[in-house]
Amino acid sequence: MNVPDIIIAVDGYSSTGKSTLAKKIARKFGFLYLDSGALYRGVTLFAQEERLINKLGTVSPELQEALGSLDLHFDPEGRLCMGPRCIEQQIRSMEVSSQVSPVAAVPYVREWVDAKLHEFGRRGRIIMDGRDIGTAVFPDAQLKIFMTASEEVRAQRRYDELVAKGETPLLEEVVQNLRERDYIDSHRQTAPLRRAEDAFELDNSDMSFEEELAWVQGLIQGKFGIL
Ligand code: C5P
Repeated sequence: MNVPDIIIAVDGYSSTGKSTLAKKIARKFGFLYLDSGALYRGVTLFAQEERLINKLGTVSPELQEALGSLDLHFDPEGRLCMGPRCIEQQIRSMEVSSQVSPVAAVPYVREWVDAKLHEFGRRGRIIMDGRDIGTAVFPDAQLKIFMTASEEVRAQRRYDELVAKGETPLLEEVVQNLRERDYIDSHRQTAPLRRAEDAFELDNSDMSFEEELAWVQGLIQGKFGIL
């Protein structure tokens, strides 16, 4: 299979299944998968552990300098690590989810994450998911997909994921968190969540995973002639 050096951007609302789809496509076509949300989650966990964010989600200006010493990277299995520590599980907790959007709205945090994403992007042949990949991080990405689904379907998905990991959230709490994140993500000043004009929209509310996959594969094959 001759895979060209392209970047695929997968953006969209919270819990629309972006990462599951992107991971599958990455495996199928030999792309590197990168989860930009994990980096925002990692910065949030760091801010919480360093007590640089209060209960209301107000970020201390000291975070900017502290980021200079923060080492976030992915291990070969794609799990996020902070220095020697694998933090993949902690960054998916409700505690981090409830504060990640205010942290991600801070312009210097976005600059810090963007610099890392561009470093990875130099390699080419990447599929990256997030909120602003096709609009701000890689506006020249060769293929852009924008994912949506009904709030009900998204909340149930997120709830099931958390329960499978042993957490005991209330469905109402999960719905509230999705609403808040989508609101903050879409209304922030820097790189708000929105569909790029040239993005293909995928509403998967009533689609099976196999149907989604076939839809994206069709796009990739049609656009780049890869089988
Ligand atoms: O993708 P995930 O839900 O893990 O992302 C967590 C949060 O990180 C989002 O709600 C959003 O606030 C932020 N994010 C962002 N830009 C990205 C990816 C994630 O602002 N490209």
